[in-house]
Parts: sequence; C-alpha cells; structure tokens
Amino acid sequence: MCIFPNYRYLFLKVLAAIIVLISASFSLFAQNQNEISNYKVYFAEGDFNNKNILVIRKFEQSGKQFYVGVDPDNIETQIIPSNQILVVALSWQQILSNYYNTAYIRAIQTAKKQSLSLQNSGIVHGFPKEKGVTLTIDLCPSNKPLDRIIFTSLISEFQKIEKPVPIALSITGRFMLTHAEDLSWLKDLIDSAEISVTWINHTYNHHFNPKTPLNQNFLLEPNTDLNFEILETEKALLQHGFLASVFFRFPGLISDNIIMDKVVEFGLIPIGSDAWLAKGQAIHSGSIVLIHGNGNEPLGIKDFIRLLQTEKSSVMKKEWLLYDLRESLENEFHE
Ligand SMILES: [Zn+2]
Repeated sequence: MCIFPNYRYLFLKVLAAIIVLISASFSLFAQNQNEISNYKVYFAEGDFNNKNILVIRKFEQSGKQFYVGVDPDNIETQIIPSNQILVVALSWQQILSNYYNTAYIRAIQTAKKQSLSLQNSGIVHGFPKEKGVTLTIDLCPSNKPLDRIIFTSLISEFQKIEKPVPIALSITGRFMLTHAEDLSWLKDLIDSAEISVTWINHTYNHHFNPKTPLNQNFLLEPNTDLNFEILETEKALLQHGFLASVFFRFPGLISDNIIMDKVVEFGLIPIGSDAWLAKGQAIHSGSIVLIHGNGNEPLGIKDFIRLLQTEKSSVMKKEWLLYDLRESLENEFHE
C-alpha cells in the first residue's frame, strides 16, 4: 500500500488552508485600510479651488489625512485631502467673529436665538425663492424597513419638474446599523440622479425613554456622550459613502439652551420643523416639513403623498417645488 498520495493530499490541504488564511488577512488589512480613524472636530480656514473654505473636521483613511470643509457662503460640505489645502487653525470663537456675515454663521446665530422652549428649537422655516417647501425625513432607529414609497412617489410626481428631487434625510447611527440594503437602495437613487440628499445628523443612539420627563429625555438624558452621538454618526455616514451636511436635528426635537450651545460648537446648525405632518401641522410656503421614513409614521407619509397629488397642477406649473435645505437657507442668510 502506498501512503505517499495521502501525504500529498494532506500537503495540498495545508497549502490551501494557508492560502485562505493569507488572503483573509489581506482582505482584513484592506478593510482596515479603508477604516476611518482619528475622526475629530478641527477648526481651520484655507483656500481650496479659489474659494475660502472653513475646515470643521479632520480624519485619516488609507494612511492619508483628510478634512471636512464647509463653504461658508453656500453651506455645502466637502472632503478635502490635506495635501491639497494649506490651512490655518482657528478657534470656534474666531470663526464666529471672522465669518459673522456669511450664510453659515448667520444661520447658526439664528438657530441659537431660537432656543426658547424644550421643543422644536433651531431653524424651523426655510426661505425658498419661489413657492415651495423643504422636505425632511427622519430616520430614527427602527427595526422596520425604510418606507421606500415616499421616495418612489416623490420621484414619479416630480420627474418632469425637478430631477434630482432634493430631500433632507435626518439619519441616526443605529438606523444605519440595521438598514444596509435600504442605504444601498438610496445610494443607487442618488448615483442615478433621481434624488439628491442633504444628510442631517440625528445622533447615533437617539435614546428615548417613555417614562422619563422630556427635560431628561432624548439628548438631555444624563451622561449622554455628545461627542460620540455626533461624530460617530458622521463617521458612519462616511463609511457608507455619504457626507454629512452641517445640519443637525435634535432627537424628538427636544433640547435646552445648554445642549443647543454645545451642538452649535461642533459647527452644526440645528433644524426644527414648522410642519410635522403626523401632528396635523399645516404646510405653508417655506415650511420645513417633517415626516418619518422608518416605518413608524404611516399617517405623515399618507398626508404628504395626498398633498403631492392635490398640488399636482401647481407642481406641473413649477409653482410648488421642493427646495434643497442648503439653498433655501442660503437665500435668506446670504448678506
Ligand atoms: Zn427622531
């Protein structure tokens, strides 16, 4: 009996196992290379593409350093490789005073002034050039799938009028953890220019306890790690191939002056709503409309789709448009 073939078989098996191990560790290495690390608040200014840009974050990816910049005039964010811009570090106070006359800082100051009650602080109304509204859809943590019908209805109602359809999505980290397929579905809609999305930071965990009074609930819950809630959400968006805007929405729309000041110091603009449809609030021109897109609020979605249909003739005549949140605020806050 020859035992040699058995050895050969064993040898091949071991070799195959080694190859599998090596390639697995290579792909793990590649994955780690794409990981975003050292994601931090960092304030600076610099020129990029002949424009004065404010830097609000820095991070590392694939061994390289990047900044998140915001154009103070049109409130748009962008990712800038650190070797393509020369920056000078600034404090947040310096930004507030040096850039006080820009749309970005004016919007921030206005949001701060509108922190009078526990509910719905921040900017609650937009200022479109023509009749129209800004649609914000909140994606709070949920085990239910994304209400895709909102998006397909918007695309079909607006297809001849506005393409891509501008939508603002307030997203939580926990929604991203459990909705990978929905996110790639949204990414396809963005890539094919059916929709354009302004990503609003809605915090990572969005804690809510129905038994706790509102002044200690949501982000006002004792021991909340605001740094984690804000930065991990931005990081998770980046890891899904999206870029956060400078807009922020308080979970439950609940905040007080202290938390408002802290959120603003991250360079963010809190956005409320003057038309939370599920609460029966009516839409007016310039409204920042709020509906939930996480399967928890069928009422608001039905209302919005009904409204789209009743306004169909105005939509067709371009009298009723959806406005990009950034554009709608830029109109008002630009000097
Ligand atoms: Zn929410």
